[in-house]
Amino acid sequence: MCPWCFSPDTYWDLFNVGTGAISLTGNLITGNWAGALVDAGGIATDFGAAAVPGVPGGAAAAIQTTRAATNVVEAATKAASAAPAPKPSTLAPGPFARESIPATSTGKATASEQQRLNEIGRASGCHTCGTKAPGTKSGNFVGDHQPPSALAKPGQTQQLYPHCLSCSRQQGGEVRQATEAQRATTPPIPRPPKLDEY
Ligand SMILES: [Zn+2]
Repeated sequence: MCPWCFSPDTYWDLFNVGTGAISLTGNLITGNWAGALVDAGGIATDFGAAAVPGVPGGAAAAIQTTRAATNVVEAATKAASAAPAPKPSTLAPGPFARESIPATSTGKATASEQQRLNEIGRASGCHTCGTKAPGTKSGNFVGDHQPPSALAKPGQTQQLYPHCLSCSRQQGGEVRQATEAQRATTPPIPRPPKLDEY
């Protein structure tokens, strides 16, 4: 065979060596050493194939295809972890709400109420997130008033549900946001006239 007449296989092989080299440079620049090693292996294989006419070298193309597929999976995984499922609102009984007890006050649960809350919490978990670990030093579930006391209408009856410490803290922020939004929509009280306006 004459050295100047390339067979179609040789063109395909040279193309593959080229694409592998571009990717290798990219990987070296970005510090992707594992990727660079894969490319280096692919280039070596392709040079081998180019030296043997009749054996098509597609290793670099195969590596690129595999890597593209891996990138798609990685991108999808990143997108999924970047947007975690939103936590349910703590301003209403949550997805794990089962039993509750009538609240006798807007304050802290009584000893017997606390005991009952712990029983419910151990059985069905925090009513918002479902954890059976209350996260408190005492090991008690937090008695959560539903609707939250700050949002309950005057005279509205409330129920107590077991809450974990984390969800209880989250509720603090959500109640603050809700009351601020309520205040923003409530028309301002007319200002009493000043004495010098008489
Ligand atoms: Zn929770």
